[in-house]
Amino acid sequence: MLDIRQIPVLSDNFIYLVREPASGTVAAVDPAVAEPVLAEAARLGWAITHILNTHHHGDHVGGNLAIKAATGCTIVGPGPDAARIPGIDVHVGDGDTYDLGAERAEVFFVPGHTRGHIAYWFKDSQALFCGDTLFSIGCGRLFEGTPAQMWTSLKRFRDLPPETRVYCAHEYTQSNIRFAVTVEPDNMALRAREAEVANLRAHGKPTVPSTIGMERAANPFMRADEAGVAAAVGLKGHDPVAVFAEVRRRKDSF
Ligand code: ZN
Ligand code: FE
Repeated sequence: MLDIRQIPVLSDNFIYLVREPASGTVAAVDPAVAEPVLAEAARLGWAITHILNTHHHGDHVGGNLAIKAATGCTIVGPGPDAARIPGIDVHVGDGDTYDLGAERAEVFFVPGHTRGHIAYWFKDSQALFCGDTLFSIGCGRLFEGTPAQMWTSLKRFRDLPPETRVYCAHEYTQSNIRFAVTVEPDNMALRAREAEVANLRAHGKPTVPSTIGMERAANPFMRADEAGVAAAVGLKGHDPVAVFAEVRRRKDSF
C-alpha cells in the first residue's frame, strides 16, 4: 500500500507525497511549490524520485524545476500537454500505466478543466489523484474544455470502486457545499457531508480525501443524470450534458 502524506500549501492547494514502501520510490503529486515539499520529504527521511503532474496550471507544476534540480527526480505528466509541463521526462496518456515501484497507476485522460488534464488511479491502494477535475462536492471550472468533456470525465471517476479515496488538489469543499445544497437541499448524503465538513473545518482539519462513494451520493456535478438535479435547475427530462452545463454555469456565478 502507498503511504500518502498531504501537504497544504498556498491558500487552498494540496500537494501529496506518495511513498511505495517496498522500493522506497517517492512521488510528489502536483507540486505547486518546492520548499514545503523538500522540507516534508527531509523530515520524513524520504528521497523524492518522481513528480506526477495532472495538468499544466502553475499551482500544480510551479515546484517542478526546483524539486528536479534538488533531487534529480523524473517528471511524469500528460503527453498531450507536454509543452506546458516544465521539465517533463515521461509522457503518459489515456490507458497508459506508470509504476511507482510495486504500485501501478492507471492513467485517465480527463479533459474539461484543461484540454490536457489527466488523473492517476492506483487501484491496489484505492487512491485517485484527480488534480482539478473532481473536487469534493464540486468539480473544476471549464477553462479549456466543454461540458460534454467534463461530464464524460466525471462519469469515468464515478465508475471506480466506491471506496476509492479522492485526493483532489484543493480544499474547496465547504464553499462547494454551500452551492450544492441550493441544488439538492433534501439530499441526505449531502446534508451529512455538510455536517461532517463543518466539524472538520471548525477543528482546522482537511476535508480531503473524500471517496468516490461519497461523491456519487452527494456531488451535484456527478449527479447530472439524476431526475432531481435536472428538475432543480429547470431542465427536467433534458440530456445530462445540458444539466451538467447548467449546474456548472450556476456555480460559476454563485
Ligand atoms: Zn487547475
Ligand atoms: Fe489548481
